[in-house]
Amino acid sequence: MTNELINTEYIFLKMGLYQQLSFDWTDDENLSYIFNENEDIQFDCFCIECEEESTFKLSSKINTVYYVKFDVEQLNNYKTPFQYEFTCQRNHSHKYSYIFRITDYKIEKVGQYPSTASIEINSIKKYRRILKDNYQEFSKAIGLYSHGIGIGSFVYLRRIFENLIEESHQLALQEISIDKELYQQSRMDEKIELLSNYLPNILVENKKLYAILSKGIHELSEDECLEIIPKVKLAIELILDEKLAEKEKASKVQQLRKFISSTVETLK
Ligand SMILES: [Zn+2]
Repeated sequence: MTNELINTEYIFLKMGLYQQLSFDWTDDENLSYIFNENEDIQFDCFCIECEEESTFKLSSKINTVYYVKFDVEQLNNYKTPFQYEFTCQRNHSHKYSYIFRITDYKIEKVGQYPSTASIEINSIKKYRRILKDNYQEFSKAIGLYSHGIGIGSFVYLRRIFENLIEESHQLALQEISIDKELYQQSRMDEKIELLSNYLPNILVENKKLYAILSKGIHELSEDECLEIIPKVKLAIELILDEKLAEKEKASKVQQLRKFISSTVETLK
């Protein structure tokens, strides 16, 4: 049976260290793509040096085996660890590299720079000022998740998510646009619906995803936590992105006001 995980995105970006992926002749197409002779592999990823999303293109290979169609045995007999190096297309001095070895019809990742945790943590730096005290917890959650620790990460993320929802709730209360008691009795997905005017649309449209957040932590398995974490993280980032955009807009409005008033002054 084809191993769906043998693809560029999984192998380079998601696969953990010392994790192994089995292959056989049914993976021929994907193996040909990853271990081909052309160097046309690329992926999109946050660049920790540009501090922005970028495209990385394969720029060099060291000790790489070249796969011959359907000859998985030849691939399996290749015992030397090999390295793929990718170059950031924004700045060619930014390099990401990955080392693998093959053993027992399995591809194993034995090295990587930078680490997944470091990519993830750098990608949330822009939220530091908005998150304030929650920032430490956000980076802890991301760190735990990138090491495969579900429940621990989930606890932090849920708390941050609840805090952000509570901020919107307080705003709704100030504007007297919400039924206090109804809100208190509601589950998380219902709260999101009640706060629909204060939250990103996409979050409200997908509120059912967040019903799980109302469950007690003892009711959730490690796997359930690992499954919901990317969705909670995305929701948190969506809320924060809106806040960042509002802040930027406010600062531009202020700049314009300043400019107008000083221009009016000089024209007098
Ligand atoms: Zn870069």
